[in-house]
Amino acid sequence: ENRSLTKITNIAWSMIENCLHQGSVALDGTMGNGNDTVFLREKIGNAGKIYSFDIQDLAVENTRKKLDERNMLSNVELIKDGHENLDKYIKEEIDGAMYNLGFLPKGDKSITTLGKNTVIAFEKTLNLLKKGGLMVISIYYGHEKGLEEKNMVLDYVQNLDSKKYHVIKMEFFNQKNNPPILVAIEKK
Ligand code: SAM
Repeated sequence: ENRSLTKITNIAWSMIENCLHQGSVALDGTMGNGNDTVFLREKIGNAGKIYSFDIQDLAVENTRKKLDERNMLSNVELIKDGHENLDKYIKEEIDGAMYNLGFLPKGDKSITTLGKNTVIAFEKTLNLLKKGGLMVISIYYGHEKGLEEKNMVLDYVQNLDSKKYHVIKMEFFNQKNNPPILVAIEKK
């Protein structure tokens, strides 16, 4: 398996897999084309649960198809609603969470995650996260509302209580054109 640092997804996956095992419960806050949901589902096997959110029908369809092709539809709940409402659906503690901010690749680039919803979702996710659990966020901000969202997210995570959370920020230091930023939050 190629886990080169050329892709932020590889780094995100390498981090999140450490807190997942057979039977874990995990959240994909932005299912998009389903790549992260499939990865999380592989890690939990046929036990445990994945909750995945997106506001677009196309994302839910693409993700359902990807899971179905791999015989992985069980133990996954695909929810067509905003991640800011996740507490309506998740009533248990979670081991890990992934967020991939931005627009749906190959989809409508005008539909993006928005800082005001994202920050609400993060707060709710951290409340559900187990001690020792991890949340990994990839911030793609090269779109119209992206800069505002990036600033809101970085402001939020920077101010999390250091007695309760470890927060790490990684960036592609020598790339041009708004390279994605990765943030990882571990609950102590
Ligand atoms: N992780 C995905 C993958 O593996 O293909 C890519 C995610 S894409 C960068 C961001 C997604 O967030 C888009 O599909 C978009 O529809 C979705 N989104 C936007 N606002 C949302 C919200 N409030 N709640 C959940 N998803 C949202």
